[in-house]
Amino acid sequence: MFDIPEVSATITEHRIHSHRCPCGQVTEAMAPAGVRAPVQYGPNLRALAAYLVVYQHVPVERAVELIADVTGAPALDRLDQLGDRGNL
Ligand SMILES: [Zn+2]
Repeated sequence: MFDIPEVSATITEHRIHSHRCPCGQVTEAMAPAGVRAPVQYGPNLRALAAYLVVYQHVPVERAVELIADVTGAPALDRLDQLGDRGNL
């Protein structure tokens, strides 16, 4: 019998602090490399999404729905949330 372990997405939260100087200048910390959106897939989910969309020809909407159903990751509704270059 072949089987896979139960799949669930893990969440990594990054807090980007900012501070407003008395002169009005706002300084904001840089996000870690690859973090470009408030909510996005990490590299493994991005690779799965790319496989589904590019190789298996699953429409993007269906791919993110499948990923959400199987992993519990949120179904992203904007392409720029998929990865660090704004696309697959
Ligand atoms: Zn200042």
